Amino acid sequence: MKKWLLAGFYLIIGLQAISQTTYSSAVKNFIDYDSSAIAFTHCKLADVKQLKVLEDQTVIVRNGLITAVDDSKKLSVPPGVTTIDLTGKSLLPGFVLVHEHMYYAAYPSDFSYLNLKQLPVTFPKLYLACGATMIRTAGSIEPYSDLNLKRDIDQGKILGPAMDVTAPYMEGKGSIFPQMHELSGPAEAKAFVDFWASQGCTSFKGYMFIDKPSLKAAIDEAHAKGLKVTGHLCAVTYREAAEMGIDQLEHGFSVSTDFVPHKKENACPLYVPPIGSADSPYVKDLIRFLIDKRVTVTSTLAVLYNMTTLDTTIRPEVLEAMAPDTRDMFLTHYNKMRNPFGNKAMLEEMKIEKQFSDAGGLLAVGTDPTGSGATLAGYGSQQSIELLTNAGFSPIEAIRIATYNGAKALGLDNKIGSIEVGKAADLVVIDGDISQDIKNIRKIIWVFKDGVGFNAQRIFSSVKGQVGKY
Ligand SMILES: [Zn+2]
Repeated sequence: MKKWLLAGFYLIIGLQAISQTTYSSAVKNFIDYDSSAIAFTHCKLADVKQLKVLEDQTVIVRNGLITAVDDSKKLSVPPGVTTIDLTGKSLLPGFVLVHEHMYYAAYPSDFSYLNLKQLPVTFPKLYLACGATMIRTAGSIEPYSDLNLKRDIDQGKILGPAMDVTAPYMEGKGSIFPQMHELSGPAEAKAFVDFWASQGCTSFKGYMFIDKPSLKAAIDEAHAKGLKVTGHLCAVTYREAAEMGIDQLEHGFSVSTDFVPHKKENACPLYVPPIGSADSPYVKDLIRFLIDKRVTVTSTLAVLYNMTTLDTTIRPEVLEAMAPDTRDMFLTHYNKMRNPFGNKAMLEEMKIEKQFSDAGGLLAVGTDPTGSGATLAGYGSQQSIELLTNAGFSPIEAIRIATYNGAKALGLDNKIGSIEVGKAADLVVIDGDISQDIKNIRKIIWVFKDGVGFNAQRIFSSVKGQVGKY
């Protein structure tokens, strides 16, 4: 065989290997559509780049990629293509959520430690069922579990979204979590980045007690490898981190220590007061600085909101999803975790995030399934997106933050994050009009990942009574 012919042969084999995932029988149970050519007709299409919902659109997908998008009157469906009539339904890009974890926070009755418990069975399923087709696990407690979950999801063995696996938290001295390693300084921070990148982690996160020299060493090393760093910081201020080149900051502006009176350099204050009014010149100045330094900010409104008393109702599905003893633990501590002192700061936080976005900042969104325990993967993810409308964003703007902005934050906006020709067929079908009510994202029917359609409600049902256990 001639060399070029051989090369062509291997290329074909290679392409097939990429486009055809072999799904396990456990995964197949949740697949409604696995056809190489699918047409979604007559949908209300969420055009997140133009911030419009386009009526009566057709989207054609071949081998996991979007190949055509146009008005249903103009675009006819070729023969042999599986057609799904979406009259009355909305088609959204798959959610790209950037502050996710495969663990849940468990509280002992004496509150001595916040124990983070890996949930490798239920959480990947819940993420996919809620519409997330790509997540970043912003900080890992069981890195090998996260890395193996990613491998098994990619290979079709288990259900879940695509994953950007963040390394274990980069923490400094004084950590409040028994599961975190405390870095000794910049030399170890650099070695830490090298090691976890070699293990397959694709992002990093600095945590509350990391100091400036260690964070700087980690950022430089990660950037040298083309990887990104985010932070839930405390000892280092937002401005200091932005100056060092950090890519992203978590929890909106709620954990900023930039304006703590008498803050000592490299020290995390015991009490971090709310950042203050959205109208204050110093908040506006910080917003401007972060935008100039191209720092993405992650909104995590659900986890913050569920620790206030602004609205104490819990979706019944959240309690139904929990295993009996997790539910007991949660109901015992729930009211203790909610505090009216946070209400005013919460409302201000929403205003500041809106202001950051309005001023041109890149705002992404994440769930952070921890806090009071009411914020679960999936259900909490939807709540995080819904709450963006309480902050003043329109439903389509909230969807953009949860899709295109997330993709941009991860540097993946050329592949995912919007419904455009050439992008992956990561799509969410919901019953109803997304432009009318953001809560329609709860009426999710299918999640398509790389063109394969999963039945969302069947996935949700399959984890009932198990969250907290597995
Ligand atoms: Zn987190």
